[in-house]
Amino acid sequence: MKNIDIQQLVTQFPLVQRLIDLEPVTWFNPNATSLAVGLPYVGLDQHDVTDASARLARFAPYLCEAFPETRAMQGILESEIAAIPAMQATLNERYGVEVTGRLLLKKDSHLPISGSIKARGGIYEVLTHAEQLAIKAGLLREEDDYSKLFTDEFRQFFGQYSIAVGSTGNLGMSIGIMSAKLGFTVTVHMSADAREWKKRKLREHGVIVVEYAEDYGVAVEQGRKEAERDPNCFFIDDENSRTLFLGYSVAGERVKKQFDEMGIKVDAEHPLFVYLPCGVGGGPGGVAFGLKLAFGDNVHCFFAEPTHSPCMLLGVHTGLHDEIAVQDLGIDNLTAADGLAVGRASGFVGRAMERLLDGFFTLSDQEMYDLLGLLAREEQIRLEPSALAGMPGPWRVTADRAWQAAQGLDETAMARATHLVWATGGGMVPAAEMEKYLATANI
Ligand SMILES: *Cc1c(COP(=O)(O)O)cnc(C)c1O
Repeated sequence: MKNIDIQQLVTQFPLVQRLIDLEPVTWFNPNATSLAVGLPYVGLDQHDVTDASARLARFAPYLCEAFPETRAMQGILESEIAAIPAMQATLNERYGVEVTGRLLLKKDSHLPISGSIKARGGIYEVLTHAEQLAIKAGLLREEDDYSKLFTDEFRQFFGQYSIAVGSTGNLGMSIGIMSAKLGFTVTVHMSADAREWKKRKLREHGVIVVEYAEDYGVAVEQGRKEAERDPNCFFIDDENSRTLFLGYSVAGERVKKQFDEMGIKVDAEHPLFVYLPCGVGGGPGGVAFGLKLAFGDNVHCFFAEPTHSPCMLLGVHTGLHDEIAVQDLGIDNLTAADGLAVGRASGFVGRAMERLLDGFFTLSDQEMYDLLGLLAREEQIRLEPSALAGMPGPWRVTADRAWQAAQGLDETAMARATHLVWATGGGMVPAAEMEKYLATANI
C-alpha cells in the first residue's frame, strides 16, 4: 500500500474534500470512452459472457429440481422490469427537475433463491466450481442433463469439498444457500453490517456463519485465511473474481431481450441510462460490462454509493483504486445500506471498467430511506435501503445540461431516453424489518 498524503490528494482532487465532508456528489467521468477503445482494458469479452450464459442454461434443469420456485422461469434466474410512473412524477417534484424520458425499475430485488442481485454472480460462481469438480472427477459431461446433480450421489460427492466467502449479507445468502443445496460444506464470514435475519436464514439452511465485529474487509480477509488452510476449500473472492463478474454480466443480453419484448428501442436517438448501486463493484461492474456489450455506446452506466462508503468513486477518481480506502480519509464506512458498506473497492473492477462508466454519485442514508418510503407508497414496491441508491440518478443526469451537450444529447434525445434504475435487493426482507425501514422514511 502507498503512503497516502491526504492534504496533497485534496489539493490535486478537490472532489475528495467533498467526499470527506460527506456531501452528496455527482461526478461525470472525463475518461469515459467508446466501447471499442475501452473494451481491451477489461480483459474479458463477448466469448466469456456467451460461455457464462451457456453454463447457466446447462444448470437450468438442475435449478428447476433444486428450487421449484424457479420452474415458472425454466430454471433461468431473471427479474422483471417494471415501469414506475407514479414514482417518476413524485421525484420530479421532490428534486425540482423534470425527467422527460421513461423511468423503469429492474427488480433484481425479487430474484428467486436469495432476493438480491447476488443471485446472479454468487450462484453462478458456485455452479461453475461444482461443474469443474464434477467434470474433473468424470461424473459429469457438458452434454448431460444436469438435473442429475440433484441426487444423493452428487450431494455426497460435493460433501467432500467446502466453500468459504466473506460478505456483508447478500453474497453470503446466495453462495450459502446454493452451496448447501449442492451438498458443499459452506462457511460465510459475515461483517458487522450483516442483518440478523440473514444469518438466521443461512443457519436454517445448514450454513456455518462466522460473525465479525469489524467491516467487510476484515470478514473477507479472515475467510481467505481460513480457506488457505484447507486444500479442499474454495474461497470465493468477491474483490477479484472474474467468475462472479461474468455471472453478473449475463444480465446485459437478458435486458436487451426484455426490451425487445417490451418494444423499447435503444439506439443513438434513444439513449439508455442505467443506475447501479455499488459496494465492492463486482455486481454493478459485471452488469455494466454486459450492458455495454449488448447496447454499445448507446448505454450510459452510473454507479451509486452511500456518502459514508464512496469507495469506487474515490478509487476511480484518484486513480488509486484499491490502494486507498474511505477510512484513509476518516470516512467511517457506516451506512444503513448494508449491501454497499464497503470501504475499499475492487481493484480489478475499477481498473477494468473505469473507461466504460459515465459517472458516479453519492447519496445520504436518509435519502435512501426516503426513497424507500416513496417507492412503497407510490408503487407498492418494497426494497432494502441499498437498492434505492440508484434512484436519484435520472435527476442527477437530467440536471446537468453541460454533460448532456458534451455527449451530443439534446432535449429530444433526453425525452426519448430510457432510465433504468437497478433495484438490487429487498425481496426477502422480513415484514417486521421492513416496517422499521418504512418508519425511518421522512416523507
Ligand atoms: C452486493 C450488493 C450491491 C453491490 O454489489 P457489489 O458487487 O458489492 O458492488 C448492491 N445492492 C445490494 C442490495 C447488494 O447486496
